[in-house]
Amino acid sequence: MNPTLNADNYRTAIVIGGGPAGLMAAEILSNAGIRVTLHERMPTVGRKLLMAGRGGLNLTHSEAFETFLTRYGARMGSLSDAVEDFSPSALRDWAGSLGQETFIGSTGRVFPRTMKSSPLVRAWLGRLVERGVTIVTRSLWRGWDAGGALLFQAADGSHWTGGADITILALGGASWPRLGADGGWVPYMEARGVTVAPLQPANCGFTIGWSAVFRDRFAGQPLKNIALSHGGYRAPGEVMITAEGLEGGAIYALAAILRDDIARGGSTTLTIDLRPDLSLDALVHRLEQPRRGQSLANHLRKAASLSPVAINLLREANNNLLPDQARILAALIKSLPLRLLATGGIARAISTAGGISFSEVDENLMLRRVPGVFVAGEMLDWEAPTGGYLLQAVLATGAKAARGAISYISR
Ligand SMILES: Cc1cc2nc3c(=O)[nH]c(=O)nc-3n(C[C@H](O)[C@H](O)[C@H](O)COP(=O)(O)OP(=O)(O)OC[C@H]3O[C@@H](n4cnc5c(N)ncnc54)[C@H](O)[C@@H]3O)c2cc1C
Repeated sequence: MNPTLNADNYRTAIVIGGGPAGLMAAEILSNAGIRVTLHERMPTVGRKLLMAGRGGLNLTHSEAFETFLTRYGARMGSLSDAVEDFSPSALRDWAGSLGQETFIGSTGRVFPRTMKSSPLVRAWLGRLVERGVTIVTRSLWRGWDAGGALLFQAADGSHWTGGADITILALGGASWPRLGADGGWVPYMEARGVTVAPLQPANCGFTIGWSAVFRDRFAGQPLKNIALSHGGYRAPGEVMITAEGLEGGAIYALAAILRDDIARGGSTTLTIDLRPDLSLDALVHRLEQPRRGQSLANHLRKAASLSPVAINLLREANNNLLPDQARILAALIKSLPLRLLATGGIARAISTAGGISFSEVDENLMLRRVPGVFVAGEMLDWEAPTGGYLLQAVLATGAKAARGAISYISR
């Protein structure tokens, strides 16, 4: 249950950031009878959420709740209350209340039936407007003025200050900055003495330094049904060859440990299994079949069912050589080392690691150093793999910050 205020005791809230965390906070605040104004720097709200829906909007995951929580790694303890209060099933009910029934895909991931975010965003905005939320777009928050008022800048460069009984900041991380969230809020926090862990790419691609020949021929091609391994972790799935290196689901799953290893050692090595469905012996057996005058590349294509991109990756990663001996070749197919030189950069990452440290907020996500100001979503210091864990924590922290703000002003 959300705490509610008496009608004669209505209060005001400013929510800054019109992503899913800010919209969820606005919904809960307005439900409680609080007059909400939401400021968004872009011409429209929810741009990253709309982008998220392009490849199929993965809202949450259906796995056992205890397993679900472990996806937040070291931040499990900091996020568990929020995710318990706004759980995966509560999220599905909420989507249903917006006319977006959900289903569980074959991997356990949860999607709206339409697979898209646009119908959900449309219905959500309609509901917020109905509940009296005022949305001010092209309104860039620029921190606080000397007197502690919120400072805004309009598109024409003019400034104004504002304030409300409570403020919720939901400014996102720094990935895909062209969609609005660019981490520009970090200095404003630091100016108030708030510790912010450096913003880093999460669920990101990596740079490999392909030869020009490989890059020109294969950039943009997928490597399907592979498995990546690093540091005892294994991620089956698919990756895409890019001009710089690799991106896609399987490498995103290992991105946090790969990124941290690169930070420590300057580079790191990833192992790729190009035929995870076959044992080493089964592969050797296939490769030992007579070649009957075929080139080795043709033999690999037919006997091991490798795609041209996989065959050329074998060469690329092995000094341009394809070993002739079946067992050596099979071992390479099962365990091909690829040296990663750098992360692919935050601008193309799916999400952001780092942000406002949990030690800077109380149990209601209120900034200890700035009473009355709450924070939510990706601007907090947590990360999670893809699979619905991002939106789940974003929406859950938006809800938690709003509930905390309501009890703060109800006191
Ligand atoms: C390509 C892609 C696909 C994705 N797919 C999925 C998926 O399927 N499932 C999933 O769980 N997650 C997915 N994500 C991640 C998910 O979209 C994000 O985790 C989520 O949008 C973060 O929500 P947020 O509200 O914290 O921040 P954001 O969505 O980034 O919203 C922050 C808002 O604040 C505004 N803002 C920033 N600074 C200011 C300022 N100074 N003044 C005013 N406004 C400001 C921004 O313009 C933005 O609108 C995907 C991300 C990408 C890039």
